[in-house]
Amino acid sequence: MNAAFQKLCAMLTAAGVPDARFDAAELYRFATGRDPRLDDGPSAAEAARLSALAERRAAREPLQYILGEWDFMDFTLKVGPGVLCPRADSEIVCESALALLQGREQPVVYDLCAGTGCLGLGIARHSPGALVTCVEKSPEAWRYLTANTAQTGVRTVQADVFTYYKTLPAEGADLIISNPPYLTGAEMRALMPETAQEPAMALDGGADGLDFYRLLTEKYRDAVRPGGWLVLEIGYAQGPAVLALGAACGWVNTSCRKDYGGNDRAVLLQKPEKSC
Ligand code: GLN
Repeated sequence: MNAAFQKLCAMLTAAGVPDARFDAAELYRFATGRDPRLDDGPSAAEAARLSALAERRAAREPLQYILGEWDFMDFTLKVGPGVLCPRADSEIVCESALALLQGREQPVVYDLCAGTGCLGLGIARHSPGALVTCVEKSPEAWRYLTANTAQTGVRTVQADVFTYYKTLPAEGADLIISNPPYLTGAEMRALMPETAQEPAMALDGGADGLDFYRLLTEKYRDAVRPGGWLVLEIGYAQGPAVLALGAACGWVNTSCRKDYGGNDRAVLLQKPEKSC
C-alpha cells in the first residue's frame, strides 16, 4: 500500500463516498494501470491524472461515468453523463427474461427505455437467434445505446414509448422487457448525490412512480403474442402495485422475483394463450 492510495481513500471517505476504498482502488487502477495494493506509487503524470479523477469522485460524480465503462452480466458497456448507469440489480431482470425464452427459436424481443442497452444486449448474447430491438428516446442516452449495440445485430429505434406502441404489429413480440423510470416524486426529491447526476428522464416515474407501468401493461399488451411475456424491472416497494396493474389489464401467471440483495426487482406477466 502506498501513500498516494491511502490519501485517496481518506479523501473519498471524507467526501462521504460509499465504498470509498473500492472506488479508490478502481480510480487508481484506471489512472496507473496497476493494482494499488502491489504498487510503490504513481509517477508525477499518473498522480496528476489521479488527482483530477479523485476530485470528480469527491464531487460525487458516479464512478461509472468517470471510468466510462461498466460491466453488466458478462459484458462491458460504455457509460457516461446522460445515460442511466447499468446496475447489478437489473441482472436478475434479464436472467428472468432469458429463462422465459428458453427453447424459443429466434424470439422477437423489445427492450423499452433501453438506456445503455444492457437488458437488450444481455438477451441478444444469451438467447441465440433473438431479434432484439432497443428503444430509447433521449438523444444523450441514444449515443451510448448505438455505441454499445454496434456490430451486435441488435436493432435500435429512437422513439418515445408513449407513442411507439402504435407502430408495432399486433402479436409480433415474444417478449417485451423494460427498466422504465420508476422513482416516486418523494424519491426524486431525496436522491443520493450520484443518482442526482444521472438523467431524471431515466428515473422519474411520476408522482407515485407507476406512470410507465400503467402505460406498458395497458398499451403494449396488443404487441405481445398469446403466451408471450412482459418483464419489468420495479422498485423494491412496487411489486404489489405492478402485479395488480398487470392483472387488471388481463395479464396472467403474474409473479415477482427478488434481486441478489433480497429486494423485489422483476415482475413477470404473461399474455393469455388464447385472447379473451
Ligand atoms: N434503480 C434506480 C435507483 O434506484 C432507478 C432506476 C429506474 O428508475 N429505472 O436509483
